[in-house]
Amino acid sequence: MVNSGYSKEEMNKYMKEYVKNSQSINCKCGGKYKSYNKYIHLKSKKHKKYSDNNDLQMYNKVNNIIFDEDLKSKFIEFLNKK
Ligand SMILES: [Zn+2]
Repeated sequence: MVNSGYSKEEMNKYMKEYVKNSQSINCKCGGKYKSYNKYIHLKSKKHKKYSDNNDLQMYNKVNNIIFDEDLKSKFIEFLNKK
């Protein structure tokens, strides 16, 4: 950012506009985040709890559907890697 061609003031103004114009997004987890905050929100406790629950639900679903032990263990491996 040393040679961006913008002064600090211009950058600040740009960032302020960006934040002002950003949209508030309702997340599946029940939380809310600003578009520029998505990355942080995805790492928040609330969202993690939701996505962990989702994984568990998915796992339970798969557990009921997949009877092939080999496929099942592959899927569990996949979930654990996430
Ligand atoms: Zn969320």
